[in-house]
Order: sequence, then C-alpha cells, then structure tokens
Amino acid sequence: MTRTNVDVVVVGAGLAGLYAMHKFRGQGLDVQGFEAASDVGGTWYFNRYPGARCDVESVDYSYSFDDDLQQEWDWSERYATQPEILAYLEHVADRFDLRSGFEFDTRVVSATFDEQAARWNIVTDKGEKVTARFCVLATGALSTTNLPNIPGRDSFGGEILHTGDWPRTGVDFAGKRVGVIGTGSSGIQSIPLIAEEAATLHVFQRTPNFSVPASNRPLDEETRREQKATYAERRRKSWASGGGSPFVSNPKSALEVPADEREAEFEQYWELGGVLFAKTFADQMSDIEANNLARGFAERKIRAVIEDQSVADVLIPTDHPIGSKRIVTDSGYFATYNRDNVTLVNLRKAPITAIDETGIATADAHYDLDMIVFATGFDAITGSLDRIDIRGRDGVLLREAWAAGPQTLHGIAAAGFPNMFLITGPGSPGVLANMVLGSEQHVNWIADAIAYLDSNDYAVIEASEQAAVDWIAECAAVAAKTLFPQANSWYMGANIEGKPRVFMMYAGGFGNYGQKIAEVAAAGYKGFDLSALAASQE
Ligand code: FAD
Ligand code: NAP
Repeated sequence: MTRTNVDVVVVGAGLAGLYAMHKFRGQGLDVQGFEAASDVGGTWYFNRYPGARCDVESVDYSYSFDDDLQQEWDWSERYATQPEILAYLEHVADRFDLRSGFEFDTRVVSATFDEQAARWNIVTDKGEKVTARFCVLATGALSTTNLPNIPGRDSFGGEILHTGDWPRTGVDFAGKRVGVIGTGSSGIQSIPLIAEEAATLHVFQRTPNFSVPASNRPLDEETRREQKATYAERRRKSWASGGGSPFVSNPKSALEVPADEREAEFEQYWELGGVLFAKTFADQMSDIEANNLARGFAERKIRAVIEDQSVADVLIPTDHPIGSKRIVTDSGYFATYNRDNVTLVNLRKAPITAIDETGIATADAHYDLDMIVFATGFDAITGSLDRIDIRGRDGVLLREAWAAGPQTLHGIAAAGFPNMFLITGPGSPGVLANMVLGSEQHVNWIADAIAYLDSNDYAVIEASEQAAVDWIAECAAVAAKTLFPQANSWYMGANIEGKPRVFMMYAGGFGNYGQKIAEVAAAGYKGFDLSALAASQE
C-alpha cells in the first residue's frame, strides 16, 4: 500500500534506489519508493539486448554494504551478462525485502517543495499525491533513451528496437535483414551477437569508437575463493581509487619511459581489458602526446584483426583522444566486420536521409531491412531529471535553473531545492566511476545528513548558492586539465540537440571526491545552510 505522508520518497528502483530503500529504512525512516518499470533493476531491467554486460568487473560492480551478501553471491564470469546482473539485483531485493517499499509501473511526474511546511509534494502519473520531508532522486544517469527523430521513422514497416528499452520477450533475428544505428557501447556489445544470428547486418556508423577486448573469462571456484578472501583489501583500494575499482595507473608519464617499457605496459593494460586501457599511464588522459601514443597502440591492435584495411580506416576513430569517450569493452567486435553477412555503412560519407516503409535511405543508397536497432544512447545524466516537473523555492523549475548546465553542490544537492538529494548526479564522479560504489557513497552520505538534521533539530538542508557556484567552477577547472572536453560525447551533452555543452562530471577522482564530501559532513555540512524551519518562516 502506498504511504502518503513519509520521511523520504525515493524515485527509481535501480541499484541506487534499492540501496537507498534499504539504508533509509534501516535507520528507522518511513520510505515510499516509486518506479516507472514493472520491477527492480533500472539499467539492468531495460538493457536486455544481446551481449549486454557490465564493463567494470562484477566482483567490483556489486554492493559492498553487506559482507554476507558479498561472500555468498557467486559471479560466473569476470564481466557478468545482463541476466546475471538482473538476477543479482532481484536477489538483493528479495533478501532485504525491498520490493515492498516501491510502487511499480508508476512514474513520478512532479515534485514541488512546500516552503511553509518544509515538505515535498510528489505526484505520480496515477494521480497519487505523497508528501515527504526528503525527496531522493535515484532516477539514473542513463535511463532516458534517445530515439532520433529521423524523417519517416514511424513509417517503417518492420520492427524498430532500442537497446535501452529492449523487449522483455526477447528478439529473434534468425533469417532477418537487420540494421543497427549507432556504434557506442550498446551497439558494439550487441553487433557481434546480432551478426551471428541475422541473415544480414548493416551497421550504420556516424562516429567510430575505441573498443578494447574485454578479456572476459569464466570465474572458477579457486579464483572466486581468492577474490572473496581478499575482498576487504580490494574494496579498500576501490574506495581510494580514481575510478572505484582496485586498478591504478602506472604513475610514470607515457612520454618519459623507454619505448619498449611503454609498449609492454600498454600490452599489459590492453590484456586487462576494456576501460582499464585508459588508465595505463598517469598522464594519458591529460597530455595529448601521451594520449597519442596510447591511440597509436590501439590503432595497431585494431588493424591487426580487420582483414580489409579500407574498412579499418572507417572503424578507427580520429576525432577524439582515446578515453575521452568511454572506451568500449567488447567481445569480438572488430572481427565481426570480417564476416560475409556484415556491412559497414559510413554515414560520414553519406548520411541517413530518411527511414521509409522498407528500410533506411542514405544520401547515396537505400538499404532494405526487416528490423532497425537503435543503439543511439541516452539523454544522459540530466534527461530523467528534466522529465520530472521539479519545483523548488519560489516555484523555480529545476530544468530552467539548469538551462545553461547543471548546477549542484557535489552532485548531491542543488541551491533553491532544499531537502532534495541526487544520487550520482551531475557534479559528482558519476559515470566516470564504478556506479555501485558511487551510489553507496551518496546514499550513505544522505543517510548521515538526515540523521544529523534529526539529532540537531534541523528540518531543512539546502546547498548554498555560492558553494554550488564554486563547486561547478571547480568541476570545470578540473575537467579543463583533462582531455575529456575535446570529445563530442554524451559526457558533454553533445549527443542531444540543444543541450548545453558542459562536461557534467567531477573528473578529480572517486577517492578524492569521497574524501571531500566526508570533510563537508565532518565540518557540520560546510557549504549547506541548515535551518529549523523553511527559510520563509524564519
Ligand atoms: P538506473 O539503473 O538507471 O535506475 C533508475 C530507475 O529510475 C529506472 O528504473 C527508471 O525507470 C526509474 N525512473 C526514472 N525516472 C523516473 C520517474 N520519474 N518515476 C519513476 N521512476 C523513474 N556503470 C558502471 O559503473 N559499470 C558498468 O559496467 C556499467 N554498465 C552499463 C551498461 C549499460 C548497458 C548501461 C546503459 C549503463 C551501464 N552503467 C555501468 C551505468 C549504469 O547506468 C549504472 O551503473 C547503474 O546501473 C545506475 O543505477 P541507478 O540506480 O543510478 O539508475
Ligand atoms: P552512445 O555511447 O551515446 O552511442 C550512441 C551511438 O549512436 C553513437 O555511435 C552515435 O553516433 C549514434 N547515433 C546517435 N544518434 C544518431 C543518429 N541520428 N544517426 C546516426 N547515429 C546516431 O550510447 P550507448 O552505446 O547506449 O552507450 C551509452 C553509455 O552507456 C556508455 O558510454 C556506457 O557508459 C553505458 N553502457 C555501458 C555498457 C557496458 O559495456 N557495460 C554497455 C552499454 C552502455 P555519434 O557519436 O556520431 O553521435
């Protein structure tokens, strides 16, 4: 039964919302959750496309808050598949009785702060109204799909799919002529598997991406035993690390080591697999010359697996430093282009002009298709927040307050929006780090902040305007020292027309960030205004 007057409303039952429900309930708070989907899992509920896996090792991309859970759960592979990750989240929901706190198939459409009562009024698409002291938005950084409005899209006579909202019933590609639009992580993970099943596969590529083989493997009992025996140390390193996993860069500059040592080091990180290649040398993400060396190494590796070098020319990125977009973690991607049933369509040469009843038209050809898979990504980081009518003090709309780019204090709170918390929001390391630990870090911080307010007779916590301005300036200054702003990435809002171009994360490292927000709390929530009543009543 939905509770209508609670301490906390949690929006979203992905891995962040699930932990929030558990943690807040555990400290005696009355919590009501809402989830638009029919069940728990968030990302892992929706992204059921073939080949979907995590790109942070499962042993790290899993909750740390309960040691029994950590010791008892067995991952079958180094990088688990979507069904296994979803089964894990379902297990967590059952184990801690978390479903009972959520109303499913229910979307929060508005959240309005009542300054007099110092409470949030939350309204759902079913017309329910709930009031809460605190509103926690665990709505996900990659949960609003981007389905480009290509002319004629809806006239297509075959099936249209999006990787980020994949049918629960599965998809049969056998004997079909399939087109995939998009070569980001979702496209690159799914293309090899679709190619194995489909009669023909056309990949419509606008911008190529760097991808490094996952070096995935099954985990045997011996490896699992060893991982579990050393979990505490593994977690300690992850909490202190740059990206929320226990791996660190070679502290030397790529430019100062002898060529043979550099090559060996690149080889070692390439073998580690996927996104970890971005961490080979300490200066790889800040010095373009160091980055060019890594890029050259990657190019040689990619060319070695593609038989037709004219195809390789199109598949190798030249427009961005390696790692300035998330490096994809793949299983057999580039070799897929050696198959007879796979054709790469270079949209830089001839862009898509329309979709019609029978397929996709580009400037110089028409491709007859039975199915089109949009692997076209997400309105990332702010997309799900923008779709809720969130009004803070004086009725100000969050999306209007953020029209020039998101303004937060530490990615957790926004000035003018008291008692509202974001999880892994813009201005935090967010998607640059392991998001399971990132979610735990934020939920723990928010739970402590609520406990602090309650034990000191405060009712309201609000980011101060100046502190938020200073924090966003610090995020921008840190980003400017890196190569991230050089890519037209979704990190920059560049994939969505009209979105402000700002680098939306704190790139100063997960461990450093954790230390900073812990210091904020220890100093009595420095940068936040705390008050007994809403300011209008003082
Ligand atoms: P989500 O899992 O996105 O959950 C948010 C939930 O909120 C959704 O269920 C959504 O329906 C719900 N919601 C949103 N708005 C509303 C509303 N208004 N009302 C009600 N409900 C709402 N990160 C990593 O660190 N490592 C990885 O290996 C990794 N792999 C990924 C693979 C894929 C295919 C994708 C798309 C992302 C991946 N990510 C990865 C990022 C991933 O999104 C996070 O790791 C994590 O799952 C986010 O959890 P979350 O709970 O914050 O958000
Ligand atoms: P993405 O990285 O944004 O890639 C979208 C792709 O679609 C790009 O190649 C883009 O080309 C293309 N595209 C978009 N609109 C287009 C249009 N109108 N015409 C032609 N092409 C178009 O999205 P994603 O692949 O879903 O990945 C998003 C993020 O989710 C990842 O970076 C990662 O963080 C996470 N993820 C992780 C994994 C994993 O391995 N664990 C898997 C999937 C997703 P342009 O670049 O030219 O815009």
